[in-house]
Amino acid sequence: MEQLEKFRQDTREWLEANCPPTMRTPMASEDDTVWGGRKATYKNPEAKLWLDRMASRGWTVPTWPKAYGGGGLTKDENQILQSELRRIKARSPLSSFGIWMLGPALLEYASEEQKQKFLPPIVRGEIRWCQGYSEPGAGSDLAGLQTKAEDKGDHYLVNGQKIWTSYADKADWIFCLVRTDSTKKHDGISFLLFDMDSPGVEARPISMISGASPFCETFFTDVKVPKSHLVGELNKGWTIAKRLLQHERDMISGMGLGSGVGSSASLESLAKDYFGESNGKVASAALREHIVQQKMDGKAFALTLQRTTEEAKAGQGMGAASSIFKYYGTELNKRRYELMLEIMGTQGLGWTGEGFTDQEIGVTRSWLRSKGNSIEGGTSEVQLNVVAKRVLNLPD
Ligand SMILES: Cc1cc2nc3c(=O)[nH]c(=O)nc-3n(C[C@H](O)[C@H](O)[C@H](O)COP(=O)(O)OP(=O)(O)OC[C@H]3O[C@@H](n4cnc5c(N)ncnc54)[C@H](O)[C@@H]3O)c2cc1C
Repeated sequence: MEQLEKFRQDTREWLEANCPPTMRTPMASEDDTVWGGRKATYKNPEAKLWLDRMASRGWTVPTWPKAYGGGGLTKDENQILQSELRRIKARSPLSSFGIWMLGPALLEYASEEQKQKFLPPIVRGEIRWCQGYSEPGAGSDLAGLQTKAEDKGDHYLVNGQKIWTSYADKADWIFCLVRTDSTKKHDGISFLLFDMDSPGVEARPISMISGASPFCETFFTDVKVPKSHLVGELNKGWTIAKRLLQHERDMISGMGLGSGVGSSASLESLAKDYFGESNGKVASAALREHIVQQKMDGKAFALTLQRTTEEAKAGQGMGAASSIFKYYGTELNKRRYELMLEIMGTQGLGWTGEGFTDQEIGVTRSWLRSKGNSIEGGTSEVQLNVVAKRVLNLPD
């Protein structure tokens, strides 16, 4: 106990000395997110400083082993670190598919050599990863994927197409599901890692109605991938793919806790801004009821998530139960944004323009973005199927 108190004290002092002032303010837009990688540019130099300082302690990924650049913290120490970060309202130093998805899968399934090669650059934010799972004919039925990797002796030759590859045009490397045996379905899939700068890789951004292009169509034409970049055994990639999806779903469920852009404005203070207050409370009784319900659901969700995470086997996530949390967390997140829009009224209708504040535009954009939460990482319908089969053991 004394040791933990000392850890809290040291952590507090270190954070006070090392977290730059602008990194203690809420993010104004998604553009403030730090993704790292070879192509990263930092409009605010303090964002890079904060990333480098946290990475030097392994605190971009506090619980990964020190041997791979992580912080090596125990669960209790990490809880203290997170509460100290919340205390000073620190921004996350690094957002990363490498941290949320690939890293945990590599820790479980990769060779020692692969862990040494790929994990430390993830911790330091040097390499940005993207996810090559979905294809035009394989979304919910992911195991129907057709992108092919042929054995050419010392390397694989990859041909095919992925779609909805988030940030493929900004990423440095891809973790990719490929077909290595076309006579089988699930047992013919392998898990490959390769550089997006390899000859034959082309990422074409998909333009949305908003003008943004958060994802791409990604084409592979005779891409040579060294055999040492196969993770796990040949044709056994489906097991790794599923585990990685569970980590992805755990990450997406966390959105239900309300950490997205725009959420820094608490529901109450937002409601007071638009509806006024009476006796210190939001003036509208009907709105108060909606806010209380949302907060109670959020609290219950957070506690259930915490309990289940603590019960889960260390480092292996929640297994199929991730689908319960993915389903509910994304619904909760969407409801929270719906409520914010309701509170903002016509001020929640702006996309750009002088009649709207940055916060209003930020919330409106996040509200629209939240609609994708119940599709990405597997749709809500697919989560309900997983819960029926793997959690409740209902017949097919
Ligand atoms: C914002 C966003 C980011 C994404 N990023 C990535 C990425 O980085 N990498 C990547 O590989 N993919 C990514 N995706 C793709 C995502 O994984 C797929 O969109 C998702 O798996 C659904 O596949 P689909 O779009 O082909 O829909 P389909 O599989 O065609 O589904 C269409 C509809 O049918 C329903 N349906 C399908 N099968 C069943 C069934 N068995 N039972 C009941 N209902 C069913 C679905 O729920 C859905 O409503 C992203 C998607 C979004 C929205």
